[in-house]
Amino acid sequence: MIITLRNGAAKKDADAVIKKIKSLGYAPHVSRGVDKTIIGMIGERAEKHREAFEAMDVVDHISEIEKPYKLASREFKKENTVIKIDGVEIGANKIVIIAGPCALEKKDIVVEIAHLIKACGAKGIRGGAFKPRTSPYAFQGLGETGLKLLVEAKKATGLITVTEVMNVNQIDAVVKYADIIQIGARNIQNYDLLKAVGKTRKPALLKRGMATTVKELLLSAEYIMSGGNHKVILCERGIRTFEDATRFTLDLNAVPVLKKLSHLPVFVDPSHGIGIREHVGSMAKAAVAAGADGLLIEVHPKPEEALSDGPQSLLPEQFEKLMLEIKLVAKAVGRQI
Ligand code: PEP
Ligand code: MN
Repeated sequence: MIITLRNGAAKKDADAVIKKIKSLGYAPHVSRGVDKTIIGMIGERAEKHREAFEAMDVVDHISEIEKPYKLASREFKKENTVIKIDGVEIGANKIVIIAGPCALEKKDIVVEIAHLIKACGAKGIRGGAFKPRTSPYAFQGLGETGLKLLVEAKKATGLITVTEVMNVNQIDAVVKYADIIQIGARNIQNYDLLKAVGKTRKPALLKRGMATTVKELLLSAEYIMSGGNHKVILCERGIRTFEDATRFTLDLNAVPVLKKLSHLPVFVDPSHGIGIREHVGSMAKAAVAAGADGLLIEVHPKPEEALSDGPQSLLPEQFEKLMLEIKLVAKAVGRQI
């Protein structure tokens, strides 16, 4: 349930509510606005304590969150969550473009990509050091060596960095080297991993699984948030349907639906979503029109030599042209990049 305190409530009165929540064995989730403080008391059967809190003077009113995901819901938090990393705001009016190779490969290539995407207006670089490959014989990523390449790219350009974590043992390294932890489509229901990321305070980019519903995506976000890490970015990256003309079916329906149900920023990954270089741009523009807060796009200067996902990676000149087009679409829907 959500406990809304009276306007301008004193800190000691708010603390008394927090103490009471803790003494009942629940975790308080405090959100302080300009003059309103709301405290989420989340957990099994929290509502049975409603009257005890209603009796407190500092409490203005109490409401219940009907959705199974609580902290991730718009009922819990009305205003959009904005995640700030090195001056980049994710979830605000400006659409944040994060681009880069599928996998971190050679240093010169990663740094080259970083420079060229930055020149086009990207704010972040992506790239995997731990790669979830369908085949065990495919390139599995460079591990920590790859993470260091991401650091080099950041040093050279100032771009914020995103990289995937596949298991709990990799979290420390990813937290050390990157700005955003990516949880891939294949791990969205790896609940131990979600809980462990929830214990960090690093922003997490959570990709929808290829067979997860919007509700399941939000419940996975809830796993991270219930650990105290509220910096979650949701990412639509295509689901599996009967359609086989494209790699996946990019479910852009999810964008406005997620924006309505949740206050969390919503990204779209058109590269994995459609999986065909020629069409990535169309879906990127459609995602912006649908209300995405950011895009994750694969770019490679020599896609024929890329160790993974070359066929869906944009060439630098295609990315440059797309960024100009995205700017126009963003403007048409009242946004900027
Ligand atoms: C990726 O971003 O490189 C990736 C593996 O994505 P997904 O988990 O969406 O397949
Ligand atoms: Mn990829």
